Amino acid sequence: MVRQQVEATGVCVITGCDVMEIGRGSEGEEVVLSTGQTLLAHLVVIGKGVVPNVELARDAGIGVGGILVDKYLQTSIPDTYAAGDVVETADIVTGESIVSGTWTNATEMGRIAGENMAGGVTEYEGAFKRLNALEVACIPVIAGGVVDLPPDKGYQVYTSRRGDTYRKLVLWDHALVGALLVGEIEG
Ligand SMILES: Cc1cc2nc3c(=O)[nH]c(=O)nc-3n(C[C@H](O)[C@H](O)[C@H](O)COP(=O)(O)OP(=O)(O)OC[C@H]3O[C@@H](n4cnc5c(N)ncnc54)[C@H](O)[C@@H]3O)c2cc1C
Repeated sequence: MVRQQVEATGVCVITGCDVMEIGRGSEGEEVVLSTGQTLLAHLVVIGKGVVPNVELARDAGIGVGGILVDKYLQTSIPDTYAAGDVVETADIVTGESIVSGTWTNATEMGRIAGENMAGGVTEYEGAFKRLNALEVACIPVIAGGVVDLPPDKGYQVYTSRRGDTYRKLVLWDHALVGALLVGEIEG
């Protein structure tokens, strides 16, 4: 649905391939794709996710992948806490180890780390691996929790598509663990 809307504005969407090379061709700057296709470009924008900068923590002797913390967001050095994009935490739904990279998770972690630094004993339950709210080509989209489903894991999935609206709800053991809303995001 989003792709159709984007393409209707005249933008060409190409997926399922890699960028092999960005360089100067005979007609200007060129981007060469793994399909062999060559695109002319004045500007290239690259979005490749979040990689924590853990050098300072590693040098200080703190355990890292992302910065490793316990359930109180305390690092391996007592009274030293970490929060936000730099922390390796657990997906609240699947338990999978993740670096979250979203503002919502970072601020929640910051609040809890702050409380605990001030003597509190608040536990951090984990982050949503996926938590996005955006508008693409005038279509509002919200995605949270488990929406790309691993096969045969026993999730119950309910979907509905009506006109320009798509809704997908994912349940695990009668609890909502993921939602994808396109077009109409109320409720
Ligand atoms: C272009 C862009 C768009 C985004 N859009 C969204 C969005 O729509 N929704 C959403 O939820 N999230 C979004 N994010 C992610 C969001 O900005 C981050 O999750 C959030 O800022 C993380 O906060 P943080 O405090 O953990 O890290 P940061 O905001 O990265 O703060 C870390 C700070 O530490 C400083 N620092 C690093 N190393 C050192 C050092 N050695 N000594 C001293 N200071 C140091 C840095 O300069 C920086 O100021 C976006 C991010 C980007 C880049």
